[in-house]
Amino acid sequence: STTSPTSLANFEIRPTATPTSDEDRAAALAAPRFGTAFTDHMARISWTAEQGWHDRRVEAYGPLRLDPATAVLHYAQEIFEGLKAYRHADGSVWTFRPEANAQRFARSAHRLALPVLSEQDFLDSLAALVATDSAWIPTGEETSLYLRPFMYASEVFLGVRPSAAAEYLVIASPVGPYFASGVRPVSIWVAEDYHRAGAGGTGAAKCGGNYAASLLPQQEAQALGFDQVCFLDSSTNTLVEELGGMNVFVVHADGSVSTPELSGSILEGVTRSSILQLVRDAGHEVRERPIPLAELRAGLEDGSVTEVFACGTAAVVTPIGRLGGVGFDLTVADGEAGPVTSSIRAELTDIQYGRAADRHGWLHRL
Ligand code: PMP
Repeated sequence: STTSPTSLANFEIRPTATPTSDEDRAAALAAPRFGTAFTDHMARISWTAEQGWHDRRVEAYGPLRLDPATAVLHYAQEIFEGLKAYRHADGSVWTFRPEANAQRFARSAHRLALPVLSEQDFLDSLAALVATDSAWIPTGEETSLYLRPFMYASEVFLGVRPSAAAEYLVIASPVGPYFASGVRPVSIWVAEDYHRAGAGGTGAAKCGGNYAASLLPQQEAQALGFDQVCFLDSSTNTLVEELGGMNVFVVHADGSVSTPELSGSILEGVTRSSILQLVRDAGHEVRERPIPLAELRAGLEDGSVTEVFACGTAAVVTPIGRLGGVGFDLTVADGEAGPVTSSIRAELTDIQYGRAADRHGWLHRL
């Protein structure tokens, strides 16, 4: 039988001929592991220099056929985003500040000389995919559907210049609670020999190359027994920047909170800016400023720094329980999740899951 195409938010829906059975989907949703299972469809828009953006559609999830000379495979002209769709207790489905992701995606596109996708197309693509695959949105506590929009240079051409063709896609993966058995503090190794980004580079963009650059230091940190790497600025090698995939916050004994300022080489996290707002709302002092590693070390030693945490879409807020590097190895907050870290995490997830008032209008109904 053929299904005649329908359309949803400007997207033509071309349903898969081989949908996952209810049984297999239930199994995938019962124990979702981050980034391993994907829904039946993907949203897609094509771009060429001549035609601009065209052919907005939702089609069967499946492999991409790429000519070996496709530009992205050689020059890494690629960007991505990450956000979640949350199911509330009443069954409604929401994303959290997707406009911020759309705007960051546009900034990333600009930096990578890729075509800019409109905020409308970005939001419509999420709505079309989530509506098509709504059966894939998990319902359990702290579960969600992780959405991964991305764009790559698709022109078949070996030459270092911006591609004259690009593909934009959104894929979706059901995810369970990041910390299945309660929030667990992570250990962080401060890298002094490697940087993820430099002045004038692509650190503020969400491009695949930044993550490729973080893998070797990450591997070396793990070999030393640490979970993740914290990068320093490449100009002075003294300032705390961020982790490979999360921003960093410092909590001071006087109740104030600091986070590294947007130096141009740090990714502007949506979670980071939301936390800045929540802490301000609570009447605490918040500073975006350069944070010298030496100051952080001294603060942990003399007790003027009481908590350190990382934040990002995937894990929301993650306490840092140990901070090590060449010549130091410090325990943070007795290796536990501190009270400020825990309350910020609860406040944010309560808004995302509709358990607390969305006083800033951050939720966007799909
Ligand atoms: N920094 C980096 C390098 C990241 O990859 C991420 C994840 N997108 C973040 C910070 C946190 O950003 P967000 O809060 O928007 O997920």
